[in-house]
Amino acid sequence: MEKFVYLFNQGSADMRSLLGGKGANLCEMTNIGLPVPPGMTISTAACAEYYKADQKLPQNIIDEVRENLTTLETAIGKKLGDTTNPLLVSVRSGAVFSMPGMMDTVLNLGLNETTVQAVAKNTGNLVFAYDSYRRFIQMFSDVVLEIPKHDFEHLLAEHKKQQGVTYDQELSAETLRAIIDSYKILVIERTGSPFPEEPIDQLFLSIEAVFRSWNNDRAFIYRNLNKIDHNLGTAVNIQSMVFGNMGNDCGTGVAFTRNPSTGENILYGEYLTNAQGEDVVAGIRTPQPIAKLESEMPEVYAQFANTAHILEQHYKNVQDIEFTIEKGKLFILQTRNGKRTAQAGIKIAHDLAMEGLITKEEALLLIEPGQLDQLLHRQIDSNATLNVIATGLPASPGAASGVVVFDADHAEQLGKTGAKVLLVRTETTPDDIHGIIAAQGILTSRGGMTSHAAVVARGMGKPCVCGCEALKIDYTKKTVTVGQTIIKEGDLVSIDGATGRVILGLVPMVDPELSTEYLAILAWADEVKRLDVRANADTPEDAQKAREFGAKGIGLTRTEHMFMGHDRLPHVQRMILAENPAERHDALSYLLPIQENDFYGILKAMEGYPVCIRLLDPPLHEFLPSLEDLLIETTQLRITQSNMPLLAEKESLLKKVRALHESNPMLGHRGCRLGITFPEIYEMQMQAICNAAVRLTLEGYTVLPEIEIPLTIGKAEMAFFKEKIDTIAKNTMEKHQATFHYLSGTMIELPRAALLAGELAEVAEFFSFGTNDLTQTCLGFSRDDAEGKFLNHYLDMKILAENPFITLDRKGVGQLMKIAVTNGRQTRPDLLIGICGEHGGESNSIAFCHEIGLDFVSCSPYRVPIARLSAAQAAISKGENYGTR
Ligand code: ADP
Ligand code: MG
Ligand code: MG
Repeated sequence: MEKFVYLFNQGSADMRSLLGGKGANLCEMTNIGLPVPPGMTISTAACAEYYKADQKLPQNIIDEVRENLTTLETAIGKKLGDTTNPLLVSVRSGAVFSMPGMMDTVLNLGLNETTVQAVAKNTGNLVFAYDSYRRFIQMFSDVVLEIPKHDFEHLLAEHKKQQGVTYDQELSAETLRAIIDSYKILVIERTGSPFPEEPIDQLFLSIEAVFRSWNNDRAFIYRNLNKIDHNLGTAVNIQSMVFGNMGNDCGTGVAFTRNPSTGENILYGEYLTNAQGEDVVAGIRTPQPIAKLESEMPEVYAQFANTAHILEQHYKNVQDIEFTIEKGKLFILQTRNGKRTAQAGIKIAHDLAMEGLITKEEALLLIEPGQLDQLLHRQIDSNATLNVIATGLPASPGAASGVVVFDADHAEQLGKTGAKVLLVRTETTPDDIHGIIAAQGILTSRGGMTSHAAVVARGMGKPCVCGCEALKIDYTKKTVTVGQTIIKEGDLVSIDGATGRVILGLVPMVDPELSTEYLAILAWADEVKRLDVRANADTPEDAQKAREFGAKGIGLTRTEHMFMGHDRLPHVQRMILAENPAERHDALSYLLPIQENDFYGILKAMEGYPVCIRLLDPPLHEFLPSLEDLLIETTQLRITQSNMPLLAEKESLLKKVRALHESNPMLGHRGCRLGITFPEIYEMQMQAICNAAVRLTLEGYTVLPEIEIPLTIGKAEMAFFKEKIDTIAKNTMEKHQATFHYLSGTMIELPRAALLAGELAEVAEFFSFGTNDLTQTCLGFSRDDAEGKFLNHYLDMKILAENPFITLDRKGVGQLMKIAVTNGRQTRPDLLIGICGEHGGESNSIAFCHEIGLDFVSCSPYRVPIARLSAAQAAISKGENYGTR
């Protein structure tokens, strides 16, 4: 019979998918002898059974839980609901992937009017017993009975006010008793029945609630955001309680084995004395830094530091550890790989490899490629004079400016309009997640470095300053007051998540400097990757930037923007509107030297590396005034009859624009079709490339131009252009007595070209997959229309698993690519093949390019580091190079 329940000594870390991350690690820690309170894990498979049975726990699972509970009770020597020696447990959710704050935990389960007295008697501490009981009622009611937490907090706050106390732990036994009574009345009011007294009922109700919570809104949003499968389900952990709220020799805390913000190798975290469970994360009181524990409880600190070290060595990764101290004794309640900022992620991976704990390859796999990009983003200019109004905790680095907004819904609305917003709250909860997603940065007045806001912001790579207690936030007036300064909703504020500074107004930002660890990691990546990484760059400046980021060439230079400058556009228009070849030649001869200089700059910036230049691609009408504007202008001129010569001119322009107007420009007169109908345009561009190449060659530079024909459908077009390229190149070299290497090839961006790649390769010397257009034409989706109208439905309904414009559609587009690679190489074994669509900078797509044997990927300069790492990860996980040091 299938086993659904595992005692902590029956599982291990590799049983994660069955036991959830929390459960698997509780088992692992139990097995390596760490002080973990005993317990059991109900598997994720049981969660599936629960849903299969229409949200009911099947009897066999109930029985299995009861049997294991008995075993546990015997081992511990306490019994759930026992009138003299009651066992109290926590009921904790734990999915395969850690989902911070997504599903709630119930602590102190097993308390009722009888057992609470037994606990008071056994501990000699009535305040503690009542405090635990009122916490239990509150958590259980929230999670299981779905009575908003807020209502209980309201009652609690009222009692505190009446008694004139600030902190929960200052409440007397009498007041706690009164609070419990008021809680119970609230429960009856809300549910119509009394709070469940029977511990075993409490237990099973909680287990079911955990399973139910898998599908609550916040969990759902989080899974969508992080692309976590909705079918995985959660496990449930039932663990005997230890108490951090029994007095001042008790406490609870959270710590990372290294600083998750910078990566520095020192214990990093915080704790609260005389507190329980969620108090630290919830940001109720601002906790003490972990270093303080060293002076407050030196022995516990030493034991904790040692445990942290053991865990890091054991998991070979930075750990995020939850612990509780009960009467001077340390207990470990959770460990998981610590979420970290991009900066820390790189330093940690680097340092762990240098310390010999992991190999360089393992270090490369530890880094999430997307994070590299964050470090290339701009930070506050250190020379700027800043109006710093307050300083909070530096919870997640990076700088952000935005208009102040006080609630998540509003942040989301404004964000959708394109506004940059700064979400400002006393603290955040999982209910604010959509606002956090929409915001540029997060600022809170309460909570520590492990508060919800901090953890979530770090995970998303968003700047965050938290626990900035100088801020007095008034939600009703929608203001923040800092000393004399009053900031209203809509005012501009900036934060610096690296230092915790809160700054009035916008701030000037600068490019960041890359750390030595960053450069080292990328150098390791280059050692193992097989794919070359190039950049898409249209200007010498971009080419230079790309080179700095490690690009080994340019995979796509678009030439159209070069036609747009105001010194050129009139001539481009003249060229388009020419009545006869002579007029067109005249316009082109004006453009030739300008284009030559464009290419000269780029080839020079990339000297020594290949530069792939695509000839003119967009439909010509993009260079002309809009049809609508012309219609308005001519109509007005006609009505006023004021300027007849101008009217005549505009009317003739209108006629031509109308003639060029297309009902479906994407599939219209564009790409090499322009070169077929107006060969002079392409010839001018070919000549400009050859002129630039010859000039640079004569100046002593090595240049490697690759002349690329866009949007071919097969061999015939390519053959037509190849002959022209070769003739122009030959003549130019002869004329100037200089030779340079060049290649002629084509973009593969139409299904027909992919299917006929075998023939195409007879004339093309390289292919570059233009996967933006190839995706549009393969799926028959125009991107703007798809993303604006129906693509979301396709994703929601799982007709498509991913947005094919972001992650390459391996099944369809990928199939075309494979055909093109195979057939192309069959004709021409040394055919150079790359990709230059946006997918060339996306990890998953890069892995596919590696698998099908492309030579290079090309992406925007800022994504070059991501591509280098992704290419290395693809090589490593394919088993190439693995195991070297
Ligand atoms: P989350 O996933 O939100 O961190 P946890 O299940 O880890 O939820 O629990 C929330 C808090 O309760 C943590 O601080 C944890 O340390 C504490 N906690 C959980 N189980 C116990 C227990 N058996 N004894 C004492 N504290 C516990
Ligand atoms: Mg936890
Ligand atoms: Mg294209």
